[in-house]
Amino acid sequence: MKITEYINQAEKPLFSFEILPPLKGQSLNDLLVGIEPLMEFKPPFVDVTYHREEFIYKKHPNGLLEKVSTKKRPGTVGICAALMNRFQVEAVPHLLCGGFTKEETENALIDLNFIGVQNVLALRGDAPKNEGKFVPEPNGHEYTTTLVEQIIGMNHGKYLHEETETSFHTDFCVGVAGYPEKHFEAPSMKFDLKFLKEKVEAGAEYIVTQMFFDNEKYFDFVKKVKAAGIDVPIIPGLKPITTLGQITMLPRTFFLDLPDDLLDELIKCKTNADVKQVGIEWAIKQSKELIANGAPVLHYYTMSKADATYKIAKEVF
Ligand code: FAD
Repeated sequence: MKITEYINQAEKPLFSFEILPPLKGQSLNDLLVGIEPLMEFKPPFVDVTYHREEFIYKKHPNGLLEKVSTKKRPGTVGICAALMNRFQVEAVPHLLCGGFTKEETENALIDLNFIGVQNVLALRGDAPKNEGKFVPEPNGHEYTTTLVEQIIGMNHGKYLHEETETSFHTDFCVGVAGYPEKHFEAPSMKFDLKFLKEKVEAGAEYIVTQMFFDNEKYFDFVKKVKAAGIDVPIIPGLKPITTLGQITMLPRTFFLDLPDDLLDELIKCKTNADVKQVGIEWAIKQSKELIANGAPVLHYYTMSKADATYKIAKEVF
């Protein structure tokens, strides 16, 4: 079923979460066993991130360095199949512009359709680690809007290099990303919203937000999105802080601010267990306030570690 159908039919706010594919060489079963307790809260869908290639340098015996491309977390499509099979949930793969030609995107979507995936989150992705600026593949997508157009085209039976529309078409529900604190490359919130609107006009049916720790940022974003004439569900993304290192890592990686009230509590902590407790309590407070203000779904970034999200969900759902 489509995410939008779950939202329309829901009698109360829904719980969902995101996982990462395991690092290459690690067990999928461990991941699935780890997230099983979260199924108690009946998530209609689980997102699976996609990780593009990275470049690493291999040192040869002669001292020369060879630049090689590697994927550290492959397996998004396989995990989607395993999730649907094991837990009977909708799996939502993330699909990137980066690293894909349009031909490869089409083939990936055909695979996803064949395994029964009905929803995808369309994203641009970033430049590979240490590579600076995002550069699309030759004959790939530069921005998410045209990726959404390609997916919606397939929903109408439009395939690349085919003269006529085919009678077999996909039926994907497409989600896209939104940024309550603005995407880091956008020159202003107004411009970011203009491009968000283009993604929705291209056919995206819902928005999932980047994580935020100050609910006012989400409420303000929702107002601005609506004022811009965008009328689709906006699913807030939440991440419980679990280590002290995240105080600097999260703002640096995701271009967001941490509220002073939260920081004041975190810096008093003596151990990571104390930090985790503060992070959980903050996320519970955020969750309850978001629900009270009408958020349709709460979507948790678990980083594939279920325990903090479990404790939050137990209090909230
Ligand atoms: P876009 O919507 O294409 O926007 C990118 C930038 O370009 C923005 O600044 C926008 O304002 C601007 N822009 C858009 N259209 C135009 C235009 N026509 N002309 C000029 N400027 C334009 N990354 C991963 O690698 N894997 C994942 O699984 C993943 N999952 C994510 C899930 C969520 C919920 C979120 C919020 C992010 C996720 N990301 C993931 C990160 C995401 O790929 C990056 O934030 C990326 O930099 C932007 O992706 P986007 O789809 O928002 O890009």
